[in-house]
Amino acid sequence: MTPESDETKSSPNFIRDIIQKDISEHKHQHIITRFPPEPNGYLHVGHAKSICLNFGIAEDFKGDCNLRFDDTNPEKEEQEYIDSIREDIEWLGFHWKTNPSASDYFDQLYDYAVRLIKLGLAYVDSQNADETRNNRGTLTEAGKNSPFRDRSIEENLQLFEDMKNDKFSDGEYVLRAKIDMASPNIKMRDPVIYRIRHATHHNTGDKWCIYPMYDFTHCLSDMIEGITHSLCTLEFEDHRPLYDWILDKLETPCHPQQIEFARLQIKYTLTSKRLLNQLVQEKIVDGWNDPRMPTISGMRRRGFTPESIKTFSDIIGVTKKNSTIEMGVLENCLREDLNARATRRMAVLHPLKVIIENYPENEVEMITGKNHPQNPEFGTREIPFSREIYIEQEDFMEDAPRKFFRLSAGREVRLRFAYYITCKEVIKNDDGTIRELICTYDPESKGGQSPDGRKVKGTIHWVSAEHSTTTTVQLYDRLFNVENPSKLKELHQALNPESLIIIKNSKLEPAIDCERQPLAYQFERLGYFIADLNSSNESPVFNRTMTLRDSWAKIEKEQSRS
Ligand code: ATP
Ligand code: MG
Repeated sequence: MTPESDETKSSPNFIRDIIQKDISEHKHQHIITRFPPEPNGYLHVGHAKSICLNFGIAEDFKGDCNLRFDDTNPEKEEQEYIDSIREDIEWLGFHWKTNPSASDYFDQLYDYAVRLIKLGLAYVDSQNADETRNNRGTLTEAGKNSPFRDRSIEENLQLFEDMKNDKFSDGEYVLRAKIDMASPNIKMRDPVIYRIRHATHHNTGDKWCIYPMYDFTHCLSDMIEGITHSLCTLEFEDHRPLYDWILDKLETPCHPQQIEFARLQIKYTLTSKRLLNQLVQEKIVDGWNDPRMPTISGMRRRGFTPESIKTFSDIIGVTKKNSTIEMGVLENCLREDLNARATRRMAVLHPLKVIIENYPENEVEMITGKNHPQNPEFGTREIPFSREIYIEQEDFMEDAPRKFFRLSAGREVRLRFAYYITCKEVIKNDDGTIRELICTYDPESKGGQSPDGRKVKGTIHWVSAEHSTTTTVQLYDRLFNVENPSKLKELHQALNPESLIIIKNSKLEPAIDCERQPLAYQFERLGYFIADLNSSNESPVFNRTMTLRDSWAKIEKEQSRS
């Protein structure tokens, strides 16, 4: 095995240090990690951090990573979620070694539970839920032993078998590990390891009416797969003694090391499947893959790239301390990636017609435009130019202040790649709104070059009216206007009313493909846009993936000053 040294793709962190040390000390020869989602929802950006960490370590240390479905709650889990999880991980560009489910191990887990009973380390309890809760104790007070704690091994074996054989109803009995009701760690106070649930499981059907609990399942599943390092989030820190206790007492052939790291939290969004599910159920968003969702599928639909998510996971790092990351960090990773890789095109979101009165009617000329301002490898395209064009409403102001460097009455501006035009007349509707502009162009300024050294300050984008495609554009922004929406009593209390703005009549230059593409375009001066999943050349719909600049950073700065 090659140590990480030269080949490291990701930044160092304390977990990589531990693994590197384990390799140097010959504790392990082959690193195996796992990503263990519960298939009860779609993956979100928090999971992406864990995926990049687990799969990234496996890649960099030439090891393996398993995708294991942690499916011990039959009521909440569904095939739809399983399919989406696989699709999301593949889209991120990772490959799992094997893809088992915890439920594949139910037989083995049952046998391990029997073994614990035989060791005198597990018992069947028949306290009801209230009694169990009352006897658990508190952080400052020890718990009380269950009156059923000292059942004989034989009786426990019989009762556990009866539990399995459907002799009881839900909640009547549980199997508990016999540890210490006085432990300062509440997780160690005789935790439940099996419970009765009469529910059909998506994988095992009706074979089982008892299901193992998470803590019992997780360590043993890790062990069965020979996981070397079991990476999980900080809230599992006080589960670790239980993880180790189970493996120690069962004297399993291997003993994975659990290591905890801080969860990813991002301002202005949610990283909890439960709350994201609520957004879907309450129809606050249009499904799990709504482009405003921080789900991997929502981000994909919005136009995020796998590369930007991986860069983000890398730069936020892996630590032991919880913190909340600025949304701008994620957005900037995407901007940087798309700035380098997105093809440039022209589009007009809010069209204003311009008639160039000295341009011959019926003439069309092809103007050459660069597909990327810095990178010549992107090549060029031909853009039709004609007498009637559209410019952005915002790029015209009738009585403009001196510093308005776009078009205004009597002033000259450069059309990107094309010509200088001067506004001669403003035509208005009856209600006083502007209908169209009459302009002239300077035929000597072809290619946007100054004919005589005369300078224009502004360059604006445009499309030829006759040759443009009409499209719907969906402008997305943050879903919430509070920093920590997970603290809200009701999620709809702090929704950003401008999280989705739909524009019906935008115009695209003809070289824009309206079928879904893998990568967003940059519409010059406007931002990054990608054809929606439902877009087609017959009925185009574009999603704004990201603005060109972080307008929130400014708003936040102003808010913190006031
Ligand atoms: P949620 O609270 O959203 O339901 P979860 O932890 O219950 O999350 P799982 O499906 O159990 O969801 O998570 C699979 C893996 O992803 C776990 O190892 C978990 O620790 C990790 N994970 C989940 N959320 C985050 C997060 N915000 N940051 C980093 N890792 C996370
Ligand atoms: Mg979980």
